[in-house]
Amino acid sequence: MTARPAVYIAITALLLFSALCAPLTAQTPAVSTKTPALPSGLDTRFIDTTADPCVDFAQYACGNFSNLYPIPNDRSGYGTGAIVSEYTETVLHTMLETAAAGGAKRTPNEQKIGDFYASCTATDAIDQGGLKPLQAELARIATLKSKDQLPELLAHYQLINDTAFFNFSEQQDFKDARKQIAVVDQAGLGLPERDFYFRTGDVAEKTRTQYVQHITNIFKLMGEPETKAASDAEKIMQLETALAKVSMDITSQRNPRNIYHLMPVSQLAALAPGIAWSRFLKATGVPPVSELNVTNPDFFKGMNALLASTDLETVKTYLRWQLIHATDSLVLPQAFDDEVFDFYRRKLAGQPEQRARWKRCVQATDGALGEALGQVYVAQQFPPSSKLATVQMVHDIEAAMDQEIDALDWMSAPTKVRAKEKLHAIADKIGYPDHWRDYSKLTIVRGDAFGNAERAVEFENRRQLAKIGQPVDRGEWGMSPPTINAYYSASMNDINFPAGILQAPLFDPNATDAENYGHIGSIVGHELTHGFDDEGRQFDANGNLKDWWTPEDGKKFDEMTACEVNEYGNFVAVDDVKLNGKLTLGENTADNGGLRLAYIAFLADANRKNIDLTKMQDGYTPLQQFFLGQGQDWCGSTRPEQLRLQVQTDPHSPRRFRVNGVVQNMPEFGRAFGCKTGQPMMPANACRVW
Ligand SMILES: [Zn+2]
Repeated sequence: MTARPAVYIAITALLLFSALCAPLTAQTPAVSTKTPALPSGLDTRFIDTTADPCVDFAQYACGNFSNLYPIPNDRSGYGTGAIVSEYTETVLHTMLETAAAGGAKRTPNEQKIGDFYASCTATDAIDQGGLKPLQAELARIATLKSKDQLPELLAHYQLINDTAFFNFSEQQDFKDARKQIAVVDQAGLGLPERDFYFRTGDVAEKTRTQYVQHITNIFKLMGEPETKAASDAEKIMQLETALAKVSMDITSQRNPRNIYHLMPVSQLAALAPGIAWSRFLKATGVPPVSELNVTNPDFFKGMNALLASTDLETVKTYLRWQLIHATDSLVLPQAFDDEVFDFYRRKLAGQPEQRARWKRCVQATDGALGEALGQVYVAQQFPPSSKLATVQMVHDIEAAMDQEIDALDWMSAPTKVRAKEKLHAIADKIGYPDHWRDYSKLTIVRGDAFGNAERAVEFENRRQLAKIGQPVDRGEWGMSPPTINAYYSASMNDINFPAGILQAPLFDPNATDAENYGHIGSIVGHELTHGFDDEGRQFDANGNLKDWWTPEDGKKFDEMTACEVNEYGNFVAVDDVKLNGKLTLGENTADNGGLRLAYIAFLADANRKNIDLTKMQDGYTPLQQFFLGQGQDWCGSTRPEQLRLQVQTDPHSPRRFRVNGVVQNMPEFGRAFGCKTGQPMMPANACRVW
């Protein structure tokens, strides 16, 4: 549970695999040898030839996948992204073992990644240390004499990822993307999202009971007697429920205008006078701040009232809970790690077993030192040819969007001019950063897993906060190079594809153009379309929140997206749980636009290279290969608990709908597979935005 809540709009990722509390990565499937093989561009083994592509294309493209790759016990789901992730994890593992054993000749970065990794895997030392590394923090809470002492304590917590009561960080100013400003956001909850405190029904009630039991168990492990632990847990549940009541739900947070309230610090002080904000800001070590974004003013008003009406002992109990909750359980004794796993992974996500230690430590090293590890990774694993080929494809897809804007019949000429301005201003970032992050001031000590984790977190938070008032570094990346994911940033107006995602089968140098345009091309198109989805369209070419649409065109956009809200909102993920059409709208729009752009770009590529569109390979025409490529990006299956969690917390639709939801909006798909109008994948009333 170390993920720091981000201001939601900042980054809109593709999320090939998702997780709430920890990055999910793959485990070795039954067929694996030491380094598992990557599937090829189009893997005919995955295809269920007994299914009808016109009735259920996801089943056709991937129906046999889970027979070959059943969900391993240490995962809540398993799919194409997980295979790539597992492969990458094995590669990183070898690098880290080498760096760990490397002796005196190591570069400073090799020392850091090697010793961080080695310390993380040394469970005996971690167990022997017990809770000793947290004693100073716990003593500070115990000796708290009044709520007036909170500002300095809460400021310190922000630096170690403890977001008790609220979250303080940095962002680009929505209305002036050249500026980096301070931001205070709602936070302080231990359940995944505010609605978890209020949703009705058996499953929701059971989750709340299990959560209170989890807090009880943690307090018992910290040495409290059973009855005290239980009553403390009840008090925390009451306090967090009150905080949740004044929090905004995740769907409302998707609208950038709902989470942007730039104001002088004095105005925040008037909203929430219970915290001496000038002392708080000073204690965080940020440069002098005169104004900041208060994402949700009502939350700060409510939080202030809650803080005033809560007795000091309850506040201290809550602080102890939030402190341990914010600490990565990987560096706590086994019993704590097991308890955190039991609630957040086993009960909430349905994952039967904990992942192997080495895999979690590879992920932790990537999280702490991503650009030190990434530098070694790129040198070994990312050939210049992959970068060149991706650059070419990105340019093709941008050209496709240029054409599409011209061809749109619903958009007026003035809005088209502005849309093109925005498109042409998008920066393409591929593989890895041009300049690498400097970790020289971060100390990593062999044998001190807890200290390493804490120092890395503080180093990163200080790095982020130091940006306030400084010019924006447009070369900065929000993901490390080995990451199997991609993102669009509305404030930067850039699309970012880490080296990790540019591997087979997503990008396969040995695959046909059709397969690659289907696989990675649809992903490139997805990120590009994010610049023009219901969130992204509110930002202009310079990354500023500024309406560049004529009122008439804006209205038409809303009407067309309403079709997708309705379409996806009727998909049933699990039991009686339907998708949230509004929460997933941006991702669904990106999926739909992305596949269309990739399709147009592929046709241009085929024309340029004289590819015969009637010539079969592996039993499929190039256009069929194209659609199968996109379909196979999303092969896999997900446990029911994880599906429920995903629908309630994740803006991405579950994998099956990322395939069927999209192709049923593209008559070009139906024509490629000889479907008839009226069949499920070729309905008469398709939705279309881009
Ligand atoms: Zn996305």
